[in-house]
Amino acid sequence: MTDPIDRKGLRKRFWEKTPMSKLTPKEWEALCDGCGKCCMNKLEDEDSGEVALTRVACRLFDDSTCHCAQYPIRHQFIPECITLSADNIEENLYWMPETCAYKLLWNGEPLYNWHPLISCDPNSVHAAGVSMQDRTVPEFEIDEDDWEDHLIEEPLG
Ligand code: SF4
Ligand code: SF4
Repeated sequence: MTDPIDRKGLRKRFWEKTPMSKLTPKEWEALCDGCGKCCMNKLEDEDSGEVALTRVACRLFDDSTCHCAQYPIRHQFIPECITLSADNIEENLYWMPETCAYKLLWNGEPLYNWHPLISCDPNSVHAAGVSMQDRTVPEFEIDEDDWEDHLIEEPLG
């Protein structure tokens, strides 16, 4: 599968040399490992604030490519989809997946070896069992009251 994210012509190991707030837009996008976990609906426990991941995917999520089917124009359809940036990442950390490259870097941790920026292979995230590829159900098929029947442990590989 070709990489849905453009990772060509990037500075070598740019994420280790440059603060997140100083990355170029292309470098920022290339940080995404393509796991698709942030595109799953989540359930938040009102009392504890704990967030649980479901396999119920956003209606724009393409389960086979494990990527947003309309990424550049997604806000026309899903205005609430968050555009993550160095300015808002802190307030979003509570729901972000543990293996998310943005969260790892923000917390000063290294990327995993299966990250396409390390492996140079966009499929390594799927081969490692960390992604949502072929694991989801579309949100338009599941009543919101039933999402709790589709809770999953975060696939950590
Ligand atoms: S969880 Fe993070 S690394 Fe995975 S697809 Fe979402 S933004 Fe990319
Ligand atoms: S609109 Fe696209 S990027 Fe946003 S949650 Fe849905 S599938 Fe993911």
